[in-house]
Amino acid sequence: MESATQARPKTPNIVLAKRQTRAKRPLGLYDLTLPELEARLGKKRLPTYRARQIWGWLYRQFAPDYAAMTTLPVELRADLSAELPISTMETVQIRSADDGETLKTLYRTGDGELVETVLMLYPDRATVCVSCQVGCAVGCAFCATGLGGLTRNLSAGEMVAQVVGAARQARERGRSLTNLVMMGMGEPLHNYAETMKMVAILHDPAGMNLGARRITISTSGVVPRIDALAGEPWPVNLAVSLHAPTDALRDQLVPINRRYPVTELMAACSRYIERTGRRVSFEYALMRGINDADATARELAVLLRGELCHVNIIPLNPVDVLPYERPDAVGIERFAGILREAGIPTTVRYSRGLEIDAACGQLRAKAERLASQPSAGPIG
Ligand code: SF4
Repeated sequence: MESATQARPKTPNIVLAKRQTRAKRPLGLYDLTLPELEARLGKKRLPTYRARQIWGWLYRQFAPDYAAMTTLPVELRADLSAELPISTMETVQIRSADDGETLKTLYRTGDGELVETVLMLYPDRATVCVSCQVGCAVGCAFCATGLGGLTRNLSAGEMVAQVVGAARQARERGRSLTNLVMMGMGEPLHNYAETMKMVAILHDPAGMNLGARRITISTSGVVPRIDALAGEPWPVNLAVSLHAPTDALRDQLVPINRRYPVTELMAACSRYIERTGRRVSFEYALMRGINDADATARELAVLLRGELCHVNIIPLNPVDVLPYERPDAVGIERFAGILREAGIPTTVRYSRGLEIDAACGQLRAKAERLASQPSAGPIG
């Protein structure tokens, strides 16, 4: 096979992207923690309870604007509205699939970048899949998001806006948002501080009160940040995008493996399990002829033997500009069966919304392609 990462751009300078993020992005109310909001209103000599009122409107009522916050004085609403928008994100498009059980929303940030969010409604839960970066520096070989490299990190507020938007969509359908997975565009552990701030905002008991056990942070394997996450006060679920059991194969599919090889990654996962007592999920995007051989399944079983873990096999969502394919149903079940026979808890998770480009980064990629054409019309 041709080197899977041959056509990829070099890893962009993440520090530079962070500086650009701070310099350019406008702040919104969703960027503030409750203590920050209290401090801001305190400078206006307003009582603390006003901050809690606003917090309730934001994260219990999902108020779309200040006008809806009817328990606040009209002058305060006007004052805040002139000074700080609630959200800096604008909805560009909402697409629905799976009989309305999957909603994919494309947002435009205040500085004109496109990001996407997916809400998935199941009988027993409603899960939002959030993006944490515009683009991604990791450059996984099979991923649409990584094709253009990293543009910038999203702020906590830009991530919170995605979650509140999904909570509002769920409520409109008579449901409550129950789970959050950081599996959209970007590597959350490359945007660690803002991701943790988002968790703090959503976890706040005076607001959305989303429990840490309902939040999953997915990583391609940023080893030092896995250790940092293990030390956080909130024991979130950790999902690791493994995709290959050996360095030879993982170097090709997930280039960050060259920096943090499989042995180091597995050691960090063991430390996470030991410190938090939480089971780690290993995500495995199954690709025909690439990582779906019986021998590869057996190597994976040996690697994971004895760990408190679970494997999610995700048959690949093909990306039209990349040469990777989904195995057939027989191949998928055979791979899962080898793991199960070896005693590894394994599920097969088919991605939602194939027909609406639900693979991460595909809706954005298509929108940008169309936007670059002179007669670009609506997506779809
Ligand atoms: S799969 Fe995730 S980590 Fe890999 S390039 Fe895509 S967004 Fe980045």
